[in-house]
Amino acid sequence: MYQLNDKIRNLKPYDPISGEYAIRLDANESFFSLPEDLQQEYARIASHLALNRYPDPLATQLCQAFADYYQVPVENVTAGNGSDELISIICNSFLEKGDRFLTLEPEFSMYRFYGSLSEGVPVTLQKPENLQIDVDEVIRVCREQDIKLLIFSNPCNPTSLGLGREEVRRLISSVEALVVLDEAYMDFWAQSLLPEFQDYDNLMILRTCSKAFGGAALRLGFAVASLPLTNALKAVKSPYNVNSFSQAAGAALLGRKEASQAALEEILRSREELLSGLKELEREFPQALHVYESCTNFAFLRMEKAEGAHAYLLGQSIAVRKFPGYLRITAGTLQENAAVLEALARFLRDAGKE
Ligand code: PMP
Repeated sequence: MYQLNDKIRNLKPYDPISGEYAIRLDANESFFSLPEDLQQEYARIASHLALNRYPDPLATQLCQAFADYYQVPVENVTAGNGSDELISIICNSFLEKGDRFLTLEPEFSMYRFYGSLSEGVPVTLQKPENLQIDVDEVIRVCREQDIKLLIFSNPCNPTSLGLGREEVRRLISSVEALVVLDEAYMDFWAQSLLPEFQDYDNLMILRTCSKAFGGAALRLGFAVASLPLTNALKAVKSPYNVNSFSQAAGAALLGRKEASQAALEEILRSREELLSGLKELEREFPQALHVYESCTNFAFLRMEKAEGAHAYLLGQSIAVRKFPGYLRITAGTLQENAAVLEALARFLRDAGKE
């Protein structure tokens, strides 16, 4: 009988949430639905596609739109089917079997997953109590354990905290590992290393259209790196990894700079509103709740009763993300924020009576 190998035997398909919920604040998506002009543009693109032809393997037009938006040279840009795909490809090809790779904790869980699947050896560094990255500690582990690949998100999912540019620079230039700097949420903060990626031969920066751009369904991620790294990445990816519709739709999305900036401002306003409501709750229930600063489009809370709060919110048809001892809540519309704040206040008041 065919036997699955050890590394895949116990895996389950990724399905973080099952069921239908009226309010979805669990996946850090943008709360904007598709604007009318973009809807029409997408319809026009769909009606002109040559669906009998393979897509452009290098996604030239899409990469050019990304390069124009972020002011980086197009030859240093690689497009992926979401940054998830790029993380998978990078782990598969830049790690050799048995190479040690470093992830931090708490962090985006897919890093460790893809690294392990590619037969790298995971090394995990727990973040200190304040959940900030301890750069000296990361450098020490990289050096002492001969780490070949270090991957982390900045700003971080799930902690919502950011590491200042100066510290990131110090980290990259102090290690020999390939540093994969996942800037999925950097549109919400202004500490990107994109303008200086050329200064490092061991740096790969990831970006995505899934968060600030509201294009999660298109599955568009990008890697920016020096030419040797970029050429290697383009060589190992599957040839037609980004479909023709997403290539053209992504170019249209990235071409609307003013509209994207306006949406971004709205998301930041929503985040501030959510955060200030949560901080009010923190003042009312200082023992029950701690709210972290946020450099992203979501809030992160330390909460002993995270599990109970998560279940209570689901019961109110509000989905947020839970971690052991923490909750993560995506900034939503005015009404969604108000609903989650009210429900959380009710939960905390009821929990206080126990
Ligand atoms: N990196 C981080 C830090 C993320 O939070 C996410 C999405 N949750 C991704 C990458 C994946 O993004 P994409 O939709 O581009 O695959």
